Amino acid sequence: MDDYDVIVVGGGPGGSTVAGLTAAEGHRVLLLDKDRFPRYQIGESLLPATVHGICAMLGVRDEIERAGFVRKRGGTFKWGTGAEPWTFSFAASDRMAGPTSYAYQVERARFDTLLLDGARRLGAEIRQGHRALGTLRAGERIGGVRYLDDAGYERHATARFVVDASGHGSRLHHDVGGVREYSPHFRNLALFGYFEGGHRMPAPDAGNILCVSFADGWFWYIPLSDTLTSVGAVVKQESADRVQGDPETAYSALIEDCPLIEEFLRDARRATEPPYDRLRVRKDYSYDRTVLWSPGMVLVGDAACFIDPVFSSGVHLATYSGLLAARSINSTLSGFADEKRCFAEFEARYRREFGLFRDFLISFYRLDSGEDDYFRQARRLTGHHGTAGEAFAELVGGVSSQDFSRAMFGDVLAEGVQLQLRGLLGEAAGDEPPMFPGGLVPTADGRRWRVPDA
Ligand code: FAD
Repeated sequence: MDDYDVIVVGGGPGGSTVAGLTAAEGHRVLLLDKDRFPRYQIGESLLPATVHGICAMLGVRDEIERAGFVRKRGGTFKWGTGAEPWTFSFAASDRMAGPTSYAYQVERARFDTLLLDGARRLGAEIRQGHRALGTLRAGERIGGVRYLDDAGYERHATARFVVDASGHGSRLHHDVGGVREYSPHFRNLALFGYFEGGHRMPAPDAGNILCVSFADGWFWYIPLSDTLTSVGAVVKQESADRVQGDPETAYSALIEDCPLIEEFLRDARRATEPPYDRLRVRKDYSYDRTVLWSPGMVLVGDAACFIDPVFSSGVHLATYSGLLAARSINSTLSGFADEKRCFAEFEARYRREFGLFRDFLISFYRLDSGEDDYFRQARRLTGHHGTAGEAFAELVGGVSSQDFSRAMFGDVLAEGVQLQLRGLLGEAAGDEPPMFPGGLVPTADGRRWRVPDA
């Protein structure tokens, strides 16, 4: 039986991050994915902290820059009570203006392959076409994985840590204990497809995500190239019966009900090349878990939790939790501190970042408000001292500054900035304050925890 330090199940952004950053510390890491890459995935609109922070730590930032993805400077919303669309730009904030004031809209098949290749270069052993069937116990701990190899044979491998990064459809997440809890606020259903030849907003906002609310929910409109556009309807639970029959008929009817999206698609035709040639449906995708880790096992990304896609936080939360898990595994394996202390830091930071997006989203879904109300709400939550527009840009960009009030989310946001700085400057990024009293801080290279200087 093969023995590893770490086995990661799932090669999406969360799995590649934790595999790459544990392998980079010299640990023996096996990553299993049931599919072969490039493989399709939804979740195409990224945030700056992923591109400039995590991608840099995985050594793939230059490749991402050269890949020709559409640059996303911010978002445009026709949302709430305002009659006209409004736009926020990441650069609206002084702190994000400059080299990290953008993200990308990506074809996930290509983006995820770049990350997986990065993890392999850092030393992880990647096995595609290998499906995990369950975990193995070693006394009180989880101690390995049962899987089907690419020839269909069942095999076992042991490890000091098993990471479940197998996404929303995870079959393993129950093994840490606790339960998955679906959000009562976001019981939505998404129906999505792709178009060639859709309209673009004028420069410099042509690469923005466009989100448009309408009676039954909202649409995303994400430019993936000069001609290809991802178009998804997010339909609230009360209107879900609109999508019960033929999805093609429902999709067309929903577009007709949303005049701005209909106008943008007037000269467009449905994409015909795989994987963009068909409609897909996802429902009940917003959930949290009561338990995120147990001795020998940790959940990251969608295997752990996911919140509604309106602010494009999914890949950010997957890669961020992958980073936090990698720090905790590396620190435990190096003997720096016991597993409990390291994973308490993982869990506290992960829950606060997730909670930031969840709580702001709950207020953002109140459609009886307007742009100014949303901006003010962002300032209220963050305690930002600048304009409300800056507060909103930093909140939905996943970053902020350390001199914000820590009353609510200031120190969570601060790590977004620190992540980007670490990606750009490496060890010169300097120290972060602890996020919690008595908590740990990252080492200079960002890959482990350490006790903060007194
Ligand atoms: P995944 O990307 O799902 O990767 C999991 C991997 O595990 C897959 O490769 C799979 O093949 C593998 N796997 C599964 N089971 C097994 C097994 N048993 N054995 C081995 N391998 C296995 N996020 C954004 O950032 N921006 C967006 O615009 C956005 N839009 C979204 C729209 C919708 C409608 C939805 C539902 C989500 C959206 N998301 C978005 C969220 C995004 O899709 C996810 O958060 C993100 O893909 C999570 O990454 P992950 O690495 O956790 O999992």
